[in-house]
Amino acid sequence: MTSLDYPSHECGVFAVYGHPNAALLSYYGLFALQHRGQESAGIVTHAGSKTPFQSVKRMGLVSQVFNEKDIDQLKGSYAIGHVRYSTTGSSNLLNAQPLSADTSRGQIAIAHNGNLINAARLRAELEMKGSIFQATSDSEIILHLLAQPGASSETKNPLAALRELEGAFSIVIMGEKEIIGVRDPHGFRPLSLGKLDDAWVLASETCAFDLIGARFVRDVEPGEALIINESGLRSEFPFKSSQESFCIFEYVYFARPDSNLRNINVSQARVRMGQELARLHPVEADIIVPIPDSGIYAALGFSEELNIPYEPAFVRNHYIGRTFIQPTQLVRDFSVRVKLNLINSYVEGKRVVVVDDSIVRGTTAKNRVINLREAGAKEVHLRISCPPHRYACYYGIDFPDPEKLLANQYSQEELCAYLGADSVGYLDVEGMVRATRLPKESFCLACFTGDYPIPFDASFNKLIMERRHNQAHLLPDDAVLF
Ligand code: AMP
Repeated sequence: MTSLDYPSHECGVFAVYGHPNAALLSYYGLFALQHRGQESAGIVTHAGSKTPFQSVKRMGLVSQVFNEKDIDQLKGSYAIGHVRYSTTGSSNLLNAQPLSADTSRGQIAIAHNGNLINAARLRAELEMKGSIFQATSDSEIILHLLAQPGASSETKNPLAALRELEGAFSIVIMGEKEIIGVRDPHGFRPLSLGKLDDAWVLASETCAFDLIGARFVRDVEPGEALIINESGLRSEFPFKSSQESFCIFEYVYFARPDSNLRNINVSQARVRMGQELARLHPVEADIIVPIPDSGIYAALGFSEELNIPYEPAFVRNHYIGRTFIQPTQLVRDFSVRVKLNLINSYVEGKRVVVVDDSIVRGTTAKNRVINLREAGAKEVHLRISCPPHRYACYYGIDFPDPEKLLANQYSQEELCAYLGADSVGYLDVEGMVRATRLPKESFCLACFTGDYPIPFDASFNKLIMERRHNQAHLLPDDAVLF
């Protein structure tokens, strides 16, 4: 079987069509999307006609990856960019995106956000046909599919090849004459279209448009391919239509608060989640304290709803990455401590409600409760602005094995004792969905409910999970996939 790591990406994508400073715009666009991936970053540009694509990709944050010389050398008015995060042993430059290739269809570059759930099978099939893979990420499969010369007039359209893909994909593609933005038919991950002067831009989140001064035009629809070329903008729907399943965790945690997803501002949705939470689990307390940055907006909503003062008692050191991003437990524990400091005088002798967006392994919550107790808090009530996480995500958010999720390890009472809190209250699915003001059926809620929008082979996923956590690089020869 093939070498393939667990397809786990939390990524951001960006694209520009028709701007003389395409590389610089991409650089700033990726800055705005940095929260979606901190492991590697890259930009590929094209200067038109038969000139070769220019590419700069390195490991690290956007600010570390590109220097002024790089941006100067990335010539051309088309560009695509990517920020990547993965948890596997394959955090290496080969997996950094955009991925590009010189193919029978000309030069192609792609940047992908999401997870393909049929990656192992597709890769094996492509290898049987002679494809040679360089990296271990599932995104390379997309490049190979696009590169295949179409036999019939139907398959001559390279987008037809994308019908093979199953799972979550928001992709930007750069060809020699066009930029294409595509979302999978379920629309798991976001992708929006903007305009800057005469240029078109595509970005995972609208906060990237704000930074470069672009105007939001609209979201790319689930199942839509937007083709931007000399003749303008063309929309195609190459896939069989499906029920939309937008990832609700983008609203809860993942997206930036200043982004609008499906025309709903993320920070405002979070404030409403806090209000819902306060109505569901009210508590008599003196102060509401957020865990920054993730709990800030929900804590504001909680405080507003119960009319209890909001006190930003935790101070965050902004110069380190996300705690969860670090791969080993040792580093993770250390990062949790280095990240936040508590101003004791806010909490001494007080009944405190501490609000965060989610509990995954429980490391953050447990440590914060300890900090509050040590600082002399009289009572500590933990409130979480989403339901308990119990299930794996196969569509692009990185969570640990379900057995490692705190909610699967303890009952509600045990959980409270484990975390050392006086009470623990989670938002429920209904309240979380209400806070978005969008219909429940348009969401993927799988990490909370276990209802997966795309059926999959559980034994295959178990195998993939095991491989991921063993950091193995080869599937067993006799592995049966699908
Ligand atoms: P934990 O400490 O393992 O319970 O993780 C919970 C903290 O990590 C919360 O403060 C969340 O804001 C944040 N978080 C939740 N999900 C993720 C994720 N998939 N990637 C990175 N951070 C996350």
